[in-house]
Amino acid sequence: MIRELTCIVCPKGCQLKVELDENKKFISVEGHTCKRGAVYAETECTAPTRVVTSTVCVEGGGVVPVKTNGAIPKELMFECVKLINSSCVPADAPIGTVVIADLLGTGIDVITTRNAKV
Ligand code: SF4
Repeated sequence: MIRELTCIVCPKGCQLKVELDENKKFISVEGHTCKRGAVYAETECTAPTRVVTSTVCVEGGGVVPVKTNGAIPKELMFECVKLINSSCVPADAPIGTVVIADLLGTGIDVITTRNAKV
């Protein structure tokens, strides 16, 4: 079976054709122009992951942007967003504050990407 993907690793957006066997096991990839694209193709077809970006509320008002400091399994994204939406940071939280440590046992943290106080 052939699966067609657009590589999302960089803005070039190479069109990939991934060959999988009947058990959806990775066989080969075409269309990538660098090794990162080949790694993306195999990961996307076997164990897809994503970096999650969102915002959390700041105590006293406002929101601050956050992101996971690494990619998490795609199937955990919904639960991740629920946890982020139920979180809040102090008004003096600096950039890099850990909002959620070891998110869902992944070893990945959710951190602020800006100072809470502007
Ligand atoms: S294959 Fe390489 S060059 Fe092409 S989009 Fe992916 S990362 Fe960018």
